[in-house]
Amino acid sequence: MTKNILRICFFISIFICCFGNLLPGQKARSQKPSLVVVIVIDGFRHDYLTRFKSQFSRGGFEFLLGRGANFINAHVNHLRASTGAGHATILTGASGHLSGIVDNEWYDRSLHRNVNCVEDPSAPFLGEDHGAKDKTAGRSPKSLNVSTVGDQLRLATNLRSKVVGISYKDRAAILLGGRLANAAYWWEPTTGDFVSSTYYMNELPKWVKRFNQEKFVNQFFRRHWDKLLDDHAYAVSRADSFPHEMDYKGMGIVFPHLVDGSSKNPDKEFYEAFSHTPWADSHLAAFAKAVIENENLGNGDFTDILAISFSATDRIGHLFGPYSVEIQDQVLRLDRLLKDLFAYLDKKIGVNNIIIALTADHGTGPIPEYMAGLNIDGGRIDVIPSIVDSVLDRQYGQGDWVEAFLKPSVYLSHGEIKIRNLKSADVENTAAEELRRVREITHVVTRTQLTMGDLPPDIIPRRFLNQFYPSRSGDILVHWKPY
Ligand SMILES: [Zn+2]
Repeated sequence: MTKNILRICFFISIFICCFGNLLPGQKARSQKPSLVVVIVIDGFRHDYLTRFKSQFSRGGFEFLLGRGANFINAHVNHLRASTGAGHATILTGASGHLSGIVDNEWYDRSLHRNVNCVEDPSAPFLGEDHGAKDKTAGRSPKSLNVSTVGDQLRLATNLRSKVVGISYKDRAAILLGGRLANAAYWWEPTTGDFVSSTYYMNELPKWVKRFNQEKFVNQFFRRHWDKLLDDHAYAVSRADSFPHEMDYKGMGIVFPHLVDGSSKNPDKEFYEAFSHTPWADSHLAAFAKAVIENENLGNGDFTDILAISFSATDRIGHLFGPYSVEIQDQVLRLDRLLKDLFAYLDKKIGVNNIIIALTADHGTGPIPEYMAGLNIDGGRIDVIPSIVDSVLDRQYGQGDWVEAFLKPSVYLSHGEIKIRNLKSADVENTAAEELRRVREITHVVTRTQLTMGDLPPDIIPRRFLNQFYPSRSGDILVHWKPY
């Protein structure tokens, strides 16, 4: 079981190319690279590299696989492996117990609400239609406690190195960049534009405004996303029509997918649909080139870092699952996109002068009903808060015992515990014992166990501990069976 969990959730690969050492007939790479390009593919499973290998181009993934180092036994060492936590780890080396980024969001007991891992009301959005509207909607890396590679590079060069993070997701761009990044830019679904926050600058640079004015996304309104290759190329994927795939914003579950958000004009609905197509990555790649040109990256005396996190693989994986024709098509299109990006980097800066690293923030689980249909025990459970609430009602009297539940964390009401003069450890344990009786649950770990170091000698509790940050984590952490 543990092996399965590892394969599905945590496999992560990193390729690093030092091209100058590898391309025959070219000059040796200068001592320091001009530019480090860190590419994160959100939700990219390691097996995508092997399942679809025969259909890769020569210049995309194959370029890295053939000429770089391929780390096939590297793991994310924390639970839950979400986008925020993953991106906070990639360039810091620290899991949530140090970085403080325990998940995409967590429950804040003083604010009595969930907070986003890059939320910062003191750093409002910069971009069209933003700013004064929602004062809680600012973004910055203020919740990230540790430094990134980029932060250390900036410190080491008297801030002469430039560091920029970009993504369709705010948390990905911001957490890869770190506290000292020159800029982080992410995509905003209400406008289809790239935005930033006042943490980095007073207003968006002119070139970003110009880039946004071109409305790259709108050219795809009402277009159909169709398959890149002939039908027979998709034999390694599940039949296209599978009822448990999600029909998101009218895109349907079979090719060709009409991308209009069921709207009459390009609007938020359309932009959100668009972000679930391979074209979203094309948009980000175009923006990456604009960053290199306009920020003059890789052209100075000091090494620069550009971190790019492509989000479409994750979103398409969420809708259609990792065994779908859609995910295969996405990976093949991303491969061609990377080929184009690498060719651009070579032409612009020269591959001798660049280091490229490619990795993922986490994997993608299969659709539970698909596994169940194959007689593999799969399904959905949504009973954890109610189980906790009823067992504590029975044991200690009626109360609102669960203050918040964010998978996999139950945040107990400390008020209910205090009013009754109970010991937290006892209440946690009562709830945990009841949860351990649920057939689909494999591990339940409590706050007291984590803080006292009283854990079973197993990799799952250890990974919970690596992500445990007392003021942000829950009181009971639950892990369930694969699928
Ligand atoms: Zn992710």
